[in-house]
Amino acid sequence: MNYADHARIKSILLNCWFSYTEEQNDADIIILITCSVRQKAEDKITWLLKDFKKTQKIWITWCMIQHNIRNSKFSQKKIPQNLKIGNFLWTINLDNYEILWLTTNEINKQNNSTKNSKIVPINHAFNPQFFNLKETFENIELFRRIDDTWFLPKILEKIWYKIKYNSDLLNEYEKIIPENQNTSMNIRHKKTAYVPISTWCNQFCSYCIVPYARGLERNFEVEHIVNECKVHLQNWAEEIVLLWQIVNKHPKFVEIIKEVLKLDWLKRLRYTSPYPTYYSNELLELHEKEEKLCPHIHIPFQSWSDQILKAMNRWYNNQKAKEFIDNIKKLDRKISITTDIIVWFPNETDEDFQQSLDLIKYWNFDMIYIGIYSPRPWTYAHKNIPDNIPYEIKHKRWKELNNLLNKISLKNNQKEVWKVKTVLINDFMTKDINWIYKYQWYTDNMKQIIVSSKKKLNIGDFIEVKINRGVVFKLYWEAK
Ligand code: SF4
Repeated sequence: MNYADHARIKSILLNCWFSYTEEQNDADIIILITCSVRQKAEDKITWLLKDFKKTQKIWITWCMIQHNIRNSKFSQKKIPQNLKIGNFLWTINLDNYEILWLTTNEINKQNNSTKNSKIVPINHAFNPQFFNLKETFENIELFRRIDDTWFLPKILEKIWYKIKYNSDLLNEYEKIIPENQNTSMNIRHKKTAYVPISTWCNQFCSYCIVPYARGLERNFEVEHIVNECKVHLQNWAEEIVLLWQIVNKHPKFVEIIKEVLKLDWLKRLRYTSPYPTYYSNELLELHEKEEKLCPHIHIPFQSWSDQILKAMNRWYNNQKAKEFIDNIKKLDRKISITTDIIVWFPNETDEDFQQSLDLIKYWNFDMIYIGIYSPRPWTYAHKNIPDNIPYEIKHKRWKELNNLLNKISLKNNQKEVWKVKTVLINDFMTKDINWIYKYQWYTDNMKQIIVSSKKKLNIGDFIEVKINRGVVFKLYWEAK
């Protein structure tokens, strides 16, 4: 999702004649797209800020600031008395999208008045986190919501940037099409376009900050999504990744898949991240029949214990999850299956943990992404379920799960050796001391592969390889 946000921000700023660099030292402005799903991600931002030069301006967006905004009561007390113009206090009127400059009192009046206010804050000097960070890092210039990306030019004018832009291209977040440019976060990824199809999440898993940080669901129109995919394919993308928190919950998800599969120049279609109960039989049939829809299904189970699933507010039990995997295994096409597991969820007993281990052994997942439970403010779990697993037990379980993951990954990857796979050469890594070029990306069944070649390969080519080595988490192909 960061890829898609990144591409939209880039598109808006290029429209204002900013130029783009991936070289941190060359940048005048550094934009941080933050995450708050785990505390560690927020801590990382503070560390990163120490690395930047004092002359570089820093703009911060996305969920680390948004969950602070949503959950801060805007009160006179919290707003420092010495707040002046220049401390970023303004709001936008939703009727005519005009940026207004309001005083502290006016803002408080807005916040206390009516829920249907047409005025929403877009920049947040009253976000306590902004003040804390700005005290240490004076070069932080802008805190803003990701939804406000489309009127970023207006915000910049308000903070005295002299810019020119084509206002016809200012469009709501979902309608910004990062046209005629790489859509990926990394300019080395030439051929993959990341296309959001909805925003945010209403699921309220008890441990998850996303609905608080990002807001509630909104589905984009099929026509718009297909049009965006078309634009990317016309601009040399060949792999499309459909995105959102629960991507398969979009009421027209199957229709979207069918429509995108019809587009010219598409070679591969993927999507992430799904939720187990929103997989339909029709979607599974498409995985079976449609060659361009990758033979990979990710099912984030999180746990295999019914007691823990209930506490997590996940809407399935292990019986339902088992039936679902059985349905995938029955398909005529070989589909690789990956999952997410959360360890250290409060009250998880040895028996609950053992159930998750049994699940992993039984289903032999192609990959398991292990998430460590991180109590997040405002979530149900944080408020109601004390984080009560002792450190030694956490450490023991983490080790056990990792050992199992390594074993399974090695076993599965060794089974891939000598199989012929189609690989998209999408990311140049390095040329080593022996003058061997190394590239990486994924096979169609979502295994990371390192391709080595004496010859320079073309980024964006699909090549057939016969896997000649499989290790933990990676496959290798070394060209003769
Ligand atoms: S489905 Fe659950 S874990 Fe995923 S984003 Fe929504 S609330 Fe968070």
